Amino acid sequence: MTDTNPYTLLCERLGEIATLGSVGALVAWDQETYMPSKGAPGRAKQAAALASLIHQKSTHRGLGELIGECEALGLDESSPEAANVARARRDFDKRTKLPESLVNEIAETQSRAQHAWKSARKNSDFKAFQPWLEKMVALSRKKAECFGVPEGGELYDALIDEYEPDVRAAEIEAVFTPLRDRLTTLVARLLDKGTPPNEAPLRIEAAEAAQHALGMEVIQALGFDTEAGRLDITTHPFCEGLAPGDTRLTTRYDTKFFAGALFGTMHECGHGLYEQGLPKIDSDGEPSATFGTPLAEAVSLGIHESQSRMWENFLGRSREFWTWAKPVADRHFGQPMQAFSVDEVYRAVNRVERSFIRVEADEATYNLHVMLRFELERALISGDLAVADLPGVWNETFERFLGSKVDADRNGCLQDVHWSFGLFGYFPTYTLGNLYAAQFWEAIREKYPDLDERLAAGDFTPVLAWNREYIHRHGRRFGAAELCERATGRPLSPDPLIKHLERKFIPIYDA
Ligand code: ZN
Repeated sequence: MTDTNPYTLLCERLGEIATLGSVGALVAWDQETYMPSKGAPGRAKQAAALASLIHQKSTHRGLGELIGECEALGLDESSPEAANVARARRDFDKRTKLPESLVNEIAETQSRAQHAWKSARKNSDFKAFQPWLEKMVALSRKKAECFGVPEGGELYDALIDEYEPDVRAAEIEAVFTPLRDRLTTLVARLLDKGTPPNEAPLRIEAAEAAQHALGMEVIQALGFDTEAGRLDITTHPFCEGLAPGDTRLTTRYDTKFFAGALFGTMHECGHGLYEQGLPKIDSDGEPSATFGTPLAEAVSLGIHESQSRMWENFLGRSREFWTWAKPVADRHFGQPMQAFSVDEVYRAVNRVERSFIRVEADEATYNLHVMLRFELERALISGDLAVADLPGVWNETFERFLGSKVDADRNGCLQDVHWSFGLFGYFPTYTLGNLYAAQFWEAIREKYPDLDERLAAGDFTPVLAWNREYIHRHGRRFGAAELCERATGRPLSPDPLIKHLERKFIPIYDA
């Protein structure tokens, strides 16, 4: 007998689409890791064929009708099923709102704009990129208009919504502004009055094999299930929740700077632990009935990033972590590492610098880089900032936030790929991730009063258990704001992050 309950049919249909998506993810992962270079043209065809099949199925009228039948079932509004249907409706409407001509124009412009950006960055020639950025801003505004401006909101809100659903620019601003002011003061205090820690422990020679062995030992200690995932090497590290029971992490090794790979691996592992904790498999190891539905998906980019930042920074750059990890690193790296104390390594991994480049920025300055981008892209989309004026305004804002002068546009407004892709509204999710991580970390500390002793002994289970309970298992049942309130008892606030940074860095810098 076949089940004709529309809810069951909807879950099955979404599960089929997700299965195709996981094939797409596998071919993309292979392309980034092991594919021989001559396989690229054929691989592009495979990826395009899958993407078009997935697009057809996920925008099919029949799917919209099935969602409509589920809406008519009169499900209890507070149930996970009702949340699942509501999110499926939201996704479907969003996917079908853009006219095909606009989707195609964006795709075409993306690849040409990205090409132009690459050479403009190399030559630090903003003028060469300017017409493409103007096109991308105009297309993004068109896209936002198709999605529709939320009541009382602005055009930029419609773009943020793609990455951080239901969050408005004005709400982000309310959290960012106090954070920005306190961080600017903190960074100036550390760098103008403090003493920077010695970076030597991070500059020891460490062979690739030894770094890989250390990385594997660390992620297993954090709770990453290596029978349901792998760690491989790529140029651009990432994590891919590839399929139920299969989460892939990647990293890259530099034999003269092991910290890059170690913290990168811990970062991706945080994403991976989230993917492994989503309800994608049943207790018997089979894909679950919710796999492919919103109930087995991540809430938002900000929440995903909260997971990676928590393991990388709140745990990985703590004294407690290094109390455990230093002897482990000694075992893998030998004498050069043994020459340093736990305290010296702890201080070295918390060095603060006024760097121009966001992706190289430390925990204290990172969010200032993000807030600069948030302000400028919001003004680009509203029309308050003309693309031609971007370099000047960028440099002026950078100096105000970080206290140094940008020397070239390649180290300024040309450094990130995002805008050439039309990814407006993406940047703020990085700092939202740090803010959520800080607030979650505070809740974990409250729940486990003996947390420090356990972490120092290499017992990281409280951190994973808390995240499994309050974040992972819910999938997208709740929005980010509601999830945060349920998990921590409070709405998102800048205070936990500011307190964390001040408490850590002022003693390290003796400032
Ligand atoms: Zn990340």
